[in-house]
Amino acid sequence: MLYSEFIQTEFIARRVDTTWRNYGACNGLDPSIFFPESEEASDEALSICAECSVRVNCLEYALASREKEGVWGGATERERRRIIRQRRRTA
Ligand code: SF4
Repeated sequence: MLYSEFIQTEFIARRVDTTWRNYGACNGLDPSIFFPESEEASDEALSICAECSVRVNCLEYALASREKEGVWGGATERERRRIIRQRRRTA
């Protein structure tokens, strides 16, 4: 399953607006790129996300749905946890 198909399946299952995913720079790429074995191996995914026009939508989705694994919206698991903590402090 391609990464874009994986995202589509996840979103449909959660009944979330999925229109932005069609524009993801990860369309057609191997999902394993976005689920590296370690944070340190995330460079390829992060560089793809950096050029993605729907990065913000993807990141907000991942934060809202508490995605625990993989790179979403240009952020690793550790970075997403940091963003969530930061938002809680400023809320
Ligand atoms: S930000 Fe990254 S993971 Fe999200 S849609 Fe774009 S390329 Fe895919």
